[in-house]
Amino acid sequence: MIKIPEWAFEFHGHRCPAMPIGYRAGLTAMEKLGVKRASNKELYLICENGPAHATACFLDGVMVATGCTYGKGNVEKKNYGKNAITLIDLKNKKEVRITMNPEFQKKGLNSEFVQLRKKGVAPKDIPPDVLNPMLENILKADENDLFIVGEVNDSDFKEIKGTFNWHECSICSEIVFENTARMVDGKPVCIPCFENK
Ligand SMILES: [Zn+2]
Ligand SMILES: [Zn+2]
Repeated sequence: MIKIPEWAFEFHGHRCPAMPIGYRAGLTAMEKLGVKRASNKELYLICENGPAHATACFLDGVMVATGCTYGKGNVEKKNYGKNAITLIDLKNKKEVRITMNPEFQKKGLNSEFVQLRKKGVAPKDIPPDVLNPMLENILKADENDLFIVGEVNDSDFKEIKGTFNWHECSICSEIVFENTARMVDGKPVCIPCFENK
């Protein structure tokens, strides 16, 4: 049975089934690629979650497992409304795509947990006797029941290089990094000032 660190639930904010599924998706992807959790930008994560839907908590679990985070800039969300990820090993230029097994996802979407969520019950108010058996089932399930695991393929993903160069916006005086600054009459301007001008 897979163990999820308690801080994952603290970071996520509540106990639910989708975050742990995402955690396992991240572990499975890393195992397929033969890589460890990213301490910096060794990995890049593309998640196909949508803007707001059931099981969207999935993405937080993937971030916890892989170390790909919005702050480090190595996550992007495609807004396709699908619980699928592509994890890219930037060093070895390999990638793997993992999706939730539709059969498993359908069972989850028909579960009592989701029925209660639909009625407006907050995740933190779902009774433990509804959540805990589900959680245990997720943590001990065979990964092929949980996921459709793709083959490892060559990746042509182009890493976005971080910049240390910055400007002072000529309108609001706030600091803006070079790769997002706009130039107006030869002077640097931040995007909000550029769009309001
Ligand atoms: Zn959640
Ligand atoms: Zn500005």
